Amino acid sequence: MLRKLSRLFFGGTCFLCRGAAAGLLCADCDADLPRLDAERCPRCALASRGGAPCGRCLAHPPRYDATIAALDYRFPADVLVHALKFRGELALAPLLGALLREKLSAAPGVDVLVPVPLSPRRLRERGYNQAVEIARSLGAPLDAGCCERVRETRAQMELPFDERASNVRGAFRCSRALSGARVAVIDDVMTTGATLDEIAAALKEAGAARVVNWVVARTAPPA
Ligand SMILES: [Zn+2]
Ligand SMILES: [Zn+2]
Repeated sequence: MLRKLSRLFFGGTCFLCRGAAAGLLCADCDADLPRLDAERCPRCALASRGGAPCGRCLAHPPRYDATIAALDYRFPADVLVHALKFRGELALAPLLGALLREKLSAAPGVDVLVPVPLSPRRLRERGYNQAVEIARSLGAPLDAGCCERVRETRAQMELPFDERASNVRGAFRCSRALSGARVAVIDDVMTTGATLDEIAAALKEAGAARVVNWVVARTAPPA
């Protein structure tokens, strides 16, 4: 009865279960989202006991300084990310941005947001960059043009984990001086972190003092 009534008042259906919803998701689906807990490595956001830096980051420190991720990349977070990225469901960007904002309340502020760039060709094909769309709802100055892909790379998703770092090596360039800036790099999914590591290197080369990753979803550790 309540569901029917709320459907009458709000007229919305949940993106995931098609039940009545006041927003994009119903309260049940929102509560079921795989939000990440606090026991994460501060550097790479993989699970780590007590939230201590993980062994991988201690042995091979990445060039980014920290990572904040909102969701575990599994059902139904993968459905939402996929729909935004490949099906043009742009209305999901503010929702994913809001989920990320939930995690950012305690995070140190940044001077500029840099969305992970697509290659010009992929941007033409897709018509939008999902990372830009997510970044728009995060409420800090956005600079979508400062970092560019200087060469086409194969989609990381198509490659085995051990080929991903070489696929993106040297693929990014920062076109303006970032002297001393604190930068947050925005992306939808972080998997091996190879792309974000290359971007952090380019941003630091341009003078960024600190580079953090703010990503919607984090995959399980690479095998
Ligand atoms: Zn639902
Ligand atoms: Zn780590």
